[in-house]
Amino acid sequence: MLGELCARYDRPRSAVKLLAVSKKHPADAIRAAHAAGQCDIGENFVAEARDKQRELSDLKLRWHFIGRLQSNKTRTVAEYFDAVHTVDRLKIAERLSAQRPHYAAPLDVMVQVNVDTETTKAGTDPTSTAELATAIAELPRLRLVGLMCLPRPSQSLPEQRQPFQRLAELAGKLRTDSGLAISELSMGTSSDLEAAIAEGATWVRLGTTLFGARPGQAQ
Ligand SMILES: *Cc1c(COP(=O)(O)O)cnc(C)c1O
Repeated sequence: MLGELCARYDRPRSAVKLLAVSKKHPADAIRAAHAAGQCDIGENFVAEARDKQRELSDLKLRWHFIGRLQSNKTRTVAEYFDAVHTVDRLKIAERLSAQRPHYAAPLDVMVQVNVDTETTKAGTDPTSTAELATAIAELPRLRLVGLMCLPRPSQSLPEQRQPFQRLAELAGKLRTDSGLAISELSMGTSSDLEAAIAEGATWVRLGTTLFGARPGQAQ
C-alpha cells in the first residue's frame, strides 16, 4: 500500500515511515504488529498507553504520543515515550524538557500546527509556529524534529492535499528563514494517506487501516 503510493508520487519508500496508531486496540494487536516488523507505535491516551507498555515490556518498541497533552501528564510522557507529535504550547515543551530523565535520549518533538485556523482545534497558529519552534529548539533534552497536523476531514484528494501542502511550506520556511534543522512531517491518517504522501509526509499515522475499526467507530 505505502510502496504503491510512494511510487505514484515519486517518493522513495524509505522516506515515508509508518506509525501504527493503536488507541483503543488491545496490547495483543500491537504484539501482532511487532511480529510483522512494526516497531513505532502511536498512542493518544497516557494511562491506556502505560498499561500496554507494561504488558509489552518484553518487546523493543518506540512509543509516540499523538494525543492532546495536558500539563499534568507531561512527566509520564517525558519518562515513557520516545517522541511527541502534538506539542503546541511552550509551557508543555518546557515541562517535557525539565522532566525528561537524564538517562534517556533526547525526546523527539514535533510541533502540531492548526492548519485550519478558522476552526478552533488543537495546534499552534501557523503565524506563531516559527516563534514556538525556535523556542523549543533551544530547550535541553528535547530534539525538535518536525511539524505535525491533523486537518479536519475533507473528501476529495485536491482538498485533502491543501492543508498538507501548507504544512510542508511552513516547514520549508522554518528551515530557510529560521535555520531550524527539521526534517519530519507527521501528516496523513487512514482517510487522507494518499494526499499526505503526495505532499511529502515522512510519518504517516495509520490506525484503522492497520488494526480495523476501533470499538465505537463508524465504519
Ligand atoms: C486516531 C489518530 C490517527 C489514526 O487515525 P485512523 O483514521 O484510524 O488511521 C492518526 N493521528 C491521530 C492524531 C489520531 O488521533
